[in-house]
Amino acid sequence: MITLTEEQRIMLNTVRQISQEKIKPRAAEIDESGEFPWDTVTLFAENGILTPLLPEPYGGIGATYLLFSMILEEISKVCAASALILIAQADGMLPILYGGNESLKEKYLPPLAEGKLSAFAATEPGAGSDILSLRARAVKQDNGYLLNGQKCFITNGCIADILCAYAYTHPDRKAKGMTAFVVEKDTPGLSYGKNENKMGMRGSINSELIFEDLWIPEENRIGEEGDGFSNMMAALNSSRLFTASQAVGLAQGAIDEATTYANQRVQFGAPISRLQAVQFMMADMVARTEAARLLTYQAATYLDQQKMNQVLKFCSMAKFMASDAAMQVTTDAVQVMGGYGYMKDFPVERMMRDAKLTQIYTGTNQIMRVVAAREIFKKP
Ligand SMILES: Cc1cc2nc3c(=O)[nH]c(=O)nc-3n(C[C@H](O)[C@H](O)[C@H](O)COP(=O)(O)OP(=O)(O)OC[C@H]3O[C@@H](n4cnc5c(N)ncnc54)[C@H](O)[C@@H]3O)c2cc1C
Repeated sequence: MITLTEEQRIMLNTVRQISQEKIKPRAAEIDESGEFPWDTVTLFAENGILTPLLPEPYGGIGATYLLFSMILEEISKVCAASALILIAQADGMLPILYGGNESLKEKYLPPLAEGKLSAFAATEPGAGSDILSLRARAVKQDNGYLLNGQKCFITNGCIADILCAYAYTHPDRKAKGMTAFVVEKDTPGLSYGKNENKMGMRGSINSELIFEDLWIPEENRIGEEGDGFSNMMAALNSSRLFTASQAVGLAQGAIDEATTYANQRVQFGAPISRLQAVQFMMADMVARTEAARLLTYQAATYLDQQKMNQVLKFCSMAKFMASDAAMQVTTDAVQVMGGYGYMKDFPVERMMRDAKLTQIYTGTNQIMRVVAAREIFKKP
């Protein structure tokens, strides 16, 4: 059973209120225009939730993973793209929090609570699931590194004040030769390619990044040379929990919409919620979502308890179960609502497009099953 402290309950209530009153009314417009909602960033910063996981000494609230999971769920019920602002922020922040030294943390983390943005820059045109094949190179030079390479699909890429970028310092050592760096916006040698035009989650920005002889001071290295891959995996693990939470929120949002509609829509002289065909669809939708939610909370709890022997398996299982549930549930919500569900006047068609992404990013669901299976068959 989940128990929250009084403080956590108050925080969650605030998030629920903001979501309903401020974020929900903007969701369709953000989706339609594809514009990044800077006002939502300000709203999150003003309410102290732009970086909930950040410990208090760095300006955050030191939320547990479980509370953050619930916050993401609450926002995703009404606008998954707005929840992605918090996810992308956490993705760019955690590599520093997990692997950076104290001076790096003190320099770069507090501004993230106040409204500066970060991004996690791993994927390249030739390196998606096969991330070890990345081609970015950081060559040691004097008291720093010269970075060359290209990244793609990076959420917040061109608007982030800092990037956590991954490159090989020793390509021959493969996983042990990758290193992570903090790259500041406006650094000479950093330029931006196109921003993607996407099917869903349209209120977020995804950019190509180009590094050309970009000089990074040695103090901006996260951890030691060769720590990059384990740093990336640790951040990704947490991010899979965030995607699962976003997916649970999307599914719940679609259920809420479909339930209201089914109670109001009259066909054959009665609300369609009286039809067994609709009832069975709704029963499956709710059961799928509740199951995904429990698995997601379990993964969050293991992260909070730092039970690392469970974290990898549960974060990947939660990610694929919750996102598959979100895809199925949002699709069924459109079905329950018939032709109206297909129209942009109702939010479920947007939720269905947004849900698709949760099956793809932070590791595709095929890769998530590979990871979970590897853990299941791992020698004790
Ligand atoms: C909107 C969006 C936002 C993103 N944000 C970021 C970000 O902020 N930072 C970042 O670094 N990246 C980001 N990504 C990248 C994302 O993580 C990758 O798209 C994802 O990991 C998949 O890589 P890929 O697109 O190259 O697909 P591929 O790896 O080419 O996969 C194509 C297909 O092959 C399958 N496949 C590949 N390998 C295997 C295997 N071994 N076993 C079984 N099936 C396999 C996949 O499951 C998939 O179905 C984002 C992507 C999107 C679409």
